[in-house]
Amino acid sequence: MIDTHCHLEQKAYDADRDEVVSRCKRELTAVVTCAAKPSDYELTFELVKKNPGFVFAVAGIHPEYVEQFSDAEVEQAMKVIENSKDSLVGVGETGLDYTFVKTAAGRKRQRELFAEFVRLANKLNLPVVVHIRNGEDKDEADAFKDAIEILERESAERVQLHMFGGRKLLERALGNGWYVSANAIILRSKSYGKVVRDTPLERLMLETDAPWLHPSGDAEQRNDLTGVAAVAERVAEIKNIAVEEVDAKTTGNAIAFFRLKL
Ligand SMILES: [Zn+2]
Repeated sequence: MIDTHCHLEQKAYDADRDEVVSRCKRELTAVVTCAAKPSDYELTFELVKKNPGFVFAVAGIHPEYVEQFSDAEVEQAMKVIENSKDSLVGVGETGLDYTFVKTAAGRKRQRELFAEFVRLANKLNLPVVVHIRNGEDKDEADAFKDAIEILERESAERVQLHMFGGRKLLERALGNGWYVSANAIILRSKSYGKVVRDTPLERLMLETDAPWLHPSGDAEQRNDLTGVAAVAERVAEIKNIAVEEVDAKTTGNAIAFFRLKL
C-alpha cells in the first residue's frame, strides 16, 4: 500500500518522526510526503535523502497560504523546487481553496499562482498535486470549475486530484486522464464516497493527509501513514471488491503515476 499524500514535516511528528517512518516501512510500500510551504522544503528533502526508495516528496505552496508570500518569495520557492527536481516526484500541493480565502483578490492570486505551479510542473516534467476546496458561497464561486479550467488551459496531463470532492466535474476530470486520491473522509462523507464509487480503480490512489484526518474521525487524534489501510478497506466496501485488489491496483497506480523508483 502507498500513502500518496501526507505531511511528514508537520510539528505533530517532531518527537518521533523517525519511529513513525520505521513503522511505516514495515507496513507500507512507499509514502509521498507533501511540503506545502517553503519553510517545509528542507526537512522534507532531508527525509527523502534519509529514506531512499521509501519516502518520496512533492513541493509547492498550498492555496490557503499563497497570500502570505510576496511575488519574490514565490519566485524563490519555485527556484528551490526547480533546483531540487531530483528529490521530487511532483509539484504541489497547489490549487484553489475558497473556504478560508474569501476576497476576490485572494482568490485571484490563488488562480494566478496555481497556473504558475502547473506550468512549473509541466516544465519539469513532473505531475501536479492539486488541492481544491470550495467556499460556502459556491453558487457564485466554484473552485472546482475554476481549477479544472486552469488545468485544462495549461494542458496539465499528470494530475492527482487530492481528496477530490467535485462530483459534478468528476467525469470531465477522468476524461482528461487525471487521477483521484481518497482519504479517510470517505469513511464519513457520502458525497466523497460517491466520487470513489464513480472513479474506476485504474484511476484511484490512496492517501491519508496525515497528521490530519484520523480514520476514527477524532480531529484531536494524530493520524499516521498506516491509516491508509482503513481507506483501502472502505474503498473495497464501496466498490464491493476485495481489499487485496484495491491494494494491488492503487499501489501500481501510484508507482506508475509518480514514476517511483522503489
Ligand atoms: Zn495535504
